Amino acid sequence: KSGFVAIIGRPNVGKSTLMNQVIGQKIAIMSDKPQTTRNKIHGVYTTDQAQIVFLDTPGIHKPSSKLGDYMIKAAEGALSEVDAILFLIDVVEGLGGGDRYIIETLKKVKTPVILVMNKIDQIHPEALLSVITTYKDLYPFAEIVPISAMHGNNVNTLLEQVIKFL
Ligand code: GDP
Ligand code: MG
Repeated sequence: KSGFVAIIGRPNVGKSTLMNQVIGQKIAIMSDKPQTTRNKIHGVYTTDQAQIVFLDTPGIHKPSSKLGDYMIKAAEGALSEVDAILFLIDVVEGLGGGDRYIIETLKKVKTPVILVMNKIDQIHPEALLSVITTYKDLYPFAEIVPISAMHGNNVNTLLEQVIKFL
């Protein structure tokens, strides 16, 4: 199995940290260089059973100009072309305006979305349940996977879920 997966989420939710866990330090650092292509490659994860190309989708933010409008269209196009979307959130920060805006964009594409609840090392399980409920009410996520990108908790489970959509 092989396919393309977009990683989206507000700044500081842990996108780069997750890529470092999955793919390794070197590639994630390289991919932090700005690129002008529609989808920039974060890295490629390869095992016997699967190859997943992880993409970063620029432009998932509130449009503030004409360029913003163009960027948003490009982002929607990019999200339509992938096999699955990983929408990362920070369980400590919880729902913010940035997340709400991203969710509005997700409603315009048909690609399955996995809600990745990151930084579970920082929250009590009961509090996590209430964060899950908040997000569940806003969008019909294909899967919900709590992880700690930093410590690597549940990252293998996340990869197994991703592979299902390839
Ligand atoms: P990005 O902007 O989405 O790429 O976020 P980064 O990967 O740069 O992470 C932002 C900050 O959150 C950094 O200080 C990370 O070390 C921290 N971080 C990322 N994942 C975790 C996690 O699972 N647990 C904790 N406690 N911190 C995390
Ligand atoms: Mg980053």
